[in-house]
Parts: sequence; C-alpha cells; structure tokens
Amino acid sequence: MSHDLLSTPLQYVKGVGPRRAADLERVGLITVEDLLYRFPIRYEDRSRLLPIAALRPGLTAALSGRISSCGLRSTRRPGFKIFEALVTDQSGSIRATWLNQPFLRDVFTRGQHVVFFGQADMRGRGGLQLTNPQYEILDDEQGETIHTGRIVPVYEKTGAVTAKIQRRLVHDVLQRLPADLADPLPEPTRARLELPPRRPAIVEAHFPSDGTDLDLLNRFAAPAQRRLIFEEAFLFQVGVLTRRLALGAERKPTAICVDERIRASARRVLPFKLTEGQKHALKEIVDDLQKSRPMNRLLQGDVGAGKTIVALLAALVILENGLQVAFMAPTEILAEQHFLNIWRLLEPARFRVALLTGAATGAARKSLLAEIESGAAHLVVGTHALVEDRVRFNRLGLIVIDEQHRFGVVQRATLRSKGTRPDVLVMTATPIPRTLALTLYGDLDVSVIRDRPPGRQPIKTAAKPESRRDEIYHFVRAQLDAGRQAYVVYPLVEESEKVDLKAATEMADHLAQEIFPHYRVGLLHGRLRADAKQRIMKAFADRDLQVLVSTTVVEVGVDVPNASVMLVEHAERFGLAQLHQLRGRVGRGQHQSYCFLLYQSPLSDDARARLRAMAETTDGFEIAERDLMVRGAGDFFGTRQAGMPTFRLIDLARDREVLELAQREAADWLRTEPPTPKTLGELLHAWEQRFKLIEIG
Ligand code: ADP
Ligand code: MG
Repeated sequence: MSHDLLSTPLQYVKGVGPRRAADLERVGLITVEDLLYRFPIRYEDRSRLLPIAALRPGLTAALSGRISSCGLRSTRRPGFKIFEALVTDQSGSIRATWLNQPFLRDVFTRGQHVVFFGQADMRGRGGLQLTNPQYEILDDEQGETIHTGRIVPVYEKTGAVTAKIQRRLVHDVLQRLPADLADPLPEPTRARLELPPRRPAIVEAHFPSDGTDLDLLNRFAAPAQRRLIFEEAFLFQVGVLTRRLALGAERKPTAICVDERIRASARRVLPFKLTEGQKHALKEIVDDLQKSRPMNRLLQGDVGAGKTIVALLAALVILENGLQVAFMAPTEILAEQHFLNIWRLLEPARFRVALLTGAATGAARKSLLAEIESGAAHLVVGTHALVEDRVRFNRLGLIVIDEQHRFGVVQRATLRSKGTRPDVLVMTATPIPRTLALTLYGDLDVSVIRDRPPGRQPIKTAAKPESRRDEIYHFVRAQLDAGRQAYVVYPLVEESEKVDLKAATEMADHLAQEIFPHYRVGLLHGRLRADAKQRIMKAFADRDLQVLVSTTVVEVGVDVPNASVMLVEHAERFGLAQLHQLRGRVGRGQHQSYCFLLYQSPLSDDARARLRAMAETTDGFEIAERDLMVRGAGDFFGTRQAGMPTFRLIDLARDREVLELAQREAADWLRTEPPTPKTLGELLHAWEQRFKLIEIG
C-alpha cells in the first residue's frame, strides 16, 4: 500500500480533521503529493537561535522566548495603532512592534512560547527593537524539533493554512514516506545528471540537513530542489512530446494541393508585396497544409508584422481546395475588422465570407448558421461565438485563431472538433520568450515573422510624469493639426471598473471640452453595446474622430494606419506586454509615431523597470524577455491566460536552464528508450492530471 501514500487525500492523514482538510483543499492541497510538492517559500536558519542579549542593531536573527507582555497602543498619528509584544529568554528581553495589525491582539497572549525572526533596530528612546518580525507561536510539544533548532522551512500562509500548520503536517507525512518510494525519473537519466533520488530530495527540500547552504536553498538551487524542479519539467516535456507524436500519427481526410491556378489566385488577392519574413512563414505553413498529417502551427510576429495576410493566403489555399475556414478573433471589434478586410480581398475571388459574433441574432443568425452548415459560407470570421454547439461546418479544413493566448484551451479544442482533423494555425502578437515557448507550445511548430512591412519607422517612446501633461497635449494637437489621429488609453481594473469607467468618461469630456475643443473626440469602452463600439471604431478608422479615448479595448489588433500618437494614462498600472500591445496600435502606417507613457509618482521598482524597458526597446521579443524577468511568469499573459500549465515547483523565470535541460533529456529518453504503450499511457494520464491540461495549442 505504501505507494498509495502520495495519492492519499490529506483528509485521511492522521491529525487532519474534516475542517483542516477543507482549509487545505481551499488552497489547492488535496493529496499528500500536493502537500509535498509545495515548496517552502524560503528557509530560515534557526539552528542557532540567538540569545536576546546578543542582538545588535542591524543584525537579522531568529530568537525564541516567551511573551511577557503584549497589547495594542495608539500613536500620535490618529488612526494608527501599534501592537507591541515583549519577548523574554534567559538572557534578556526585547520589544517587537507591528504597525496597523490590530488583529495580532487575538494572536498573542502572555506566556506563549514564540520564535521571532527579523532585524533588530535602534529606536530612539525605546532602545533595541524588532519591527514587523516574522513570528511563530510554538505551542506544541514537538515545537523545539520541528520549528526551531534547525534550518526551518517557511511556507506561504494561504487562507487558514499557516506556515506552522504546513510544517507540522509535512513533517508528519515525511515520517511515513516509504523508503522505496517510486521514482518517475528514468534511472539512467537521473544518475547521469547526478540528481538525488526522489525520496531524499523531497525530505531535503522541506527539512534540509544541517549544514545545507542556506543561500542555495533560498535561491531554490540546492540539489534536492533542482531535482524536483527537473522532475516536474521532465514529466511535462514527456507529455508534450508524446502528444506531439500522437498528433503526428493522425491523417487528414482530404489531401490539399497547391497548383499554378491557386498561386495565380493568391497573386490576384495580394494587395502588396510580402516581406521576406512573411514569405518564409507562408512557405512553412503551405508546406504543412500539403502534408497528410494535420498542421499544428504557431505564427508569432510582433504587432504590425503582418500576420493577417499570411493567414489569409493560407486560408485561400484551403478554400481553393473546396474546404471551409474558421477564423476566430478575441473581440468583436477585431472580428469585424478582419471580416471587412477579408471580405474585401476574397469576395472578388467569389468566396463567400461570413461574420458570426454575438451581435448576430434571430433570423439573421439562423440563416447564417444554415449557410455555415451547408458549406455555402466558405470562410467564417467570428468571435468565440464560433465555438458554440449550434455552429456546425460542412467541411472545415482550417482553423485560424488570432491572438490565441486570449482563448482557453477548451475553446480551441472545441473549435477543432468541428472539423475532421483540420489544420490549425494559431497566431500571437505577444512574443513569447524561448523558455515559455518551449514549455507552452512544445507540441506546436513555430513560424516567426521578425521583419516588418516596408516604410515603418520605429515608434518614439517616452515615459513622462503627470507634471508634463500640458507639453504632451501641445504635442498631440500639433499631430492632429498635421492630419494624424491619437489614442488616449485608460486602464480599466476589474475591481474598480465603475470608478475607472467614470474616470475615463470624465476624462473624455474634459479632453473634448477643454483640451481638444476644436477636434472631434470619441469614447470607447467595454460597456458599450457592440454596435455602438463598432460605430465609434469605424468613425475613428474613417477619420471622423481624431482622438479616441478608450479603455483597453483597443489593445488587440485594431488597425488605423493614420493614428500616430498613443497616450497611455496611468502607464504604471499596465503590464509590459500590455503596454507593448498598446504601443503597437500606432506606427502602422508611413508616419512617424509616438507613444507617451504618463505615470503617477512615486513609481514602484517594477513599474520603473517596465517603463524603462518600453522606452529602451521596441523589439517585442526583448520586451517579452524583460517582462518575464520583471514579473516572473505568474501572470505573464495576464490572468486570462487559460492554457497555462499549473506548475507546482517550476518558476518559468527562474528555472529556464532546468527547463531546457529537461526538454533535451525528455526528447533523448523518448528516442533511445521508447516507453512501452502501457508506461506511456500511465505517463500521459499522470501528466494530464498533474498539469491540469487537456490539450495545448
Ligand atoms: P499583425 O501582425 O499585428 O496582425 P496586421 O496583419 O494587422 O499585423 O498588419 C499590419 C498592417 O500592415 C496592416 O495594415 C497590413 O495591411 C499591413 N501590411 C502587412 N503586410 C504588409 C506588407 N508586406 N507590405 C505592406 N503592408 C503590409
Ligand atoms: Mg493581428
């Protein structure tokens, strides 16, 4: 039974009652394995607890003692309260204070045995004190051996689950970890890379032996930690690669061919000369289309690189072969814009182009659905409305997904299921750092457009404090006078949507009446009805509006080549990828374009790094790398990224080397020692469970 320990629900672990189990489950800890694969956030050396008398100003230390008194007191500043506790050991006493944490009143009581960890500082008359130390109350018998007297793991407190509860629980579970715990890593791989076996690695990652390098531990670079990170990366890559093999074995029902007739048709459609990058990407895609296995390709290219026409030409090949194409975009505005473009280019070729969004209702929708099902509609542009059940295709041969990171994994899979093993082309303007691409899209082939259509000048970018607002307005007016157009963008944070909307609305009025009274100003925001949005976008595209004040709905894909100014308000609130997307709205035509990032001081370090990156480079790939560094991978794509695997140990920013190593090793292993179908089945099952992914790409 021992191998079952890891999959045992925590609820059945000794000492965990139903209530604790519920607390644990709420933070995602369901099985013993979940618990053991949750690293401490850091480690403290409490092997040498310092006597209080030995504390000196500036010294960071752990100490242990009893609370001799504690309480809340007011300060001279109204509304500010300080909680104080006096802790005493055999050598002396020291005061610890916490500002504005009145709840500590319910945490500490006199006589408690505690561990404090923090920096001692001189506080004027008050003498030496600890300000906001980390604390732990040791009220159980084992306290001395688990929570002090060693290198101690500190877990992130989530919900009702404190660091101490976890440490305790992990300690108990580790006692019962079988000596012969199975190791998912192939033994030769493990041995060659000199990684410790699984069991000692798990133990050491939680309760490091005496003498382990604390610095290594806190950088998550100790052998035990590296081994577990590698394990996760390896298993993930095996899954990705296996899926890729499985897809490679599929066969399309219809052979696609490209002949002179089709080439001529493409030449007729093409409104301009393709760049080298576009040609290259198109060739890779068209080669794929002609293969017997379905294409599964990612087309990457910075904003404005010209991905749409490449996708359209690929679509044309499919259409000429008598199959249908679905073209999915993340927003209605974008779908409509694609529709108009594609319609203009393809209708002369007598292909019927249709638009399906949430806006189509009633009888119109019904007849549209009928056309799609009968095959009368050849190319259907749409939003996620395309994914709905009632949408059925006659012969769906190609799926194009624009700005694919906006869609969930399930949406993509559903759309794919509407055809018989259709070719799939996903596009993204969010350049993806190499590590992430490896990780997220390991089962996709990737084409990259690195050049830009001719005549584009790099966008000039400047970050400016609020105090320079008037200058910028002045500059914008000059641009408007020269016939250009401008975007003014406001952040829209979900929690305070109403407030921000009000701010954006007021700002639009203010801009219209006071700043740009002689110009035509429009407001676009997410709460507007679809037809109103479309009207405003169209007015801007037709130059009826000169200034478009907007919440971030203009972020994706909108194409107005005459717009030359992007003014971002509260730029400090935007992520780097988002800022880059916004900037990509300008510089799409022949005109020199400008991006102003207005910020409110003081800037956080992260915000400063983001704004600096924006001013220093316009290369989306470099931006992406920097974004990953600044933010960590947590929300690289924003919270909406649905296809992101849920890693337990891997930090994409920190662990790139391990990830790359794991990818090579996984590929080698699959090649040299192909696992039996049975092992492979088990691996894949475990993989899906573990990464909570049904499918990527
Ligand atoms: P993105 O890659 O961001 O989706 P688009 O496909 O929207 O970029 O293209 C941006 C703009 O550049 C569009 O107006 C498009 O018509 C134009 N464009 C694309 N390729 C070329 C080219 N080879 N020559 C000239 N203009 C081009
Ligand atoms: Mg686009």
